Amino acid sequence: MTTAIYCHTDCLAHEMGSWHPESPARLQAIEDQLIASRIDTCIDHREAPLADLSDIGRVHHADAIARIRDNVPAAGEYYPIDGDTLLNAHSWQAALRAAGAAVAATDAVIAGELDNAFCAVRPPGHHARPSEPMGFCLFNNVAIAARHALEVHGLERVAIVDFDVHHGNGTEESFRDDPRVLMASFFQHPFYPYTEPAPITATRVNIPVAARSGGDVVRKLVEDHWLPALHAHRPQLIFISAGFDAHREDDLGGMALVEADYAWMTHRLAEVARTHAGGRIVSCLEGGYNLSALGRSVVAHIKALADLD
Ligand SMILES: [Zn+2]
Repeated sequence: MTTAIYCHTDCLAHEMGSWHPESPARLQAIEDQLIASRIDTCIDHREAPLADLSDIGRVHHADAIARIRDNVPAAGEYYPIDGDTLLNAHSWQAALRAAGAAVAATDAVIAGELDNAFCAVRPPGHHARPSEPMGFCLFNNVAIAARHALEVHGLERVAIVDFDVHHGNGTEESFRDDPRVLMASFFQHPFYPYTEPAPITATRVNIPVAARSGGDVVRKLVEDHWLPALHAHRPQLIFISAGFDAHREDDLGGMALVEADYAWMTHRLAEVARTHAGGRIVSCLEGGYNLSALGRSVVAHIKALADLD
């Protein structure tokens, strides 16, 4: 297996204040744990390029892009998008790197250079709506990469699987009317962003779960709902919105997953990818705010992607 990690130091320069849980320390915690686990040397490390505005424009409206580009503040200042989503002087550049990582990883797995890739990037993306950034997210990195796979590479069917504790409202909205894209997720409900659960359809399998749900609940919904829908859809590439805030040690979420649950889900998705997609997976970091749990969970996820466990 050839697995790559995409990242860029620009993603460390975006920050929203020392109080904010979506912090540069998250990426440092992931890197530290990769080194400590000794899988660092087994993984191809690639630098994230800047996304093209044409790629971002396949998901986001021009005024939503301009709102970020035109409001980047001076060094040391912040521009509030909403109460907990802010821009600093480096946010535009970081957002282009985060989306660019997802697009470049998509190009590389479709070209056959890699089996799969993990984008260790921030800002995260799955709350970003076509019309507005929100919820720590500026551009919807996974949605942008999925549209790139469809429109630039001509893929006919892709899947986006989201295991962040929060509902990926921006992703769901982006593909509401696009039967080429299956979205499968679970999300704590009721909880931020307080969207009403949509009816389950063949290409929208987003399952609300109660607070305190653990691996038993999640593994059953994966087997009962995600896997049948994925096999029916036959995706040619699987994207993962890889948030790790459903971990039991994560105080932003209220669920009870552990590292073994992330490894288990990743293996199930890898099996689907091997069956239908030539093994191709592009995974992008979303949430995950307990630094220790985040680092350990990302390592479990990458070990499963690289078949090192
Ligand atoms: Zn989240």
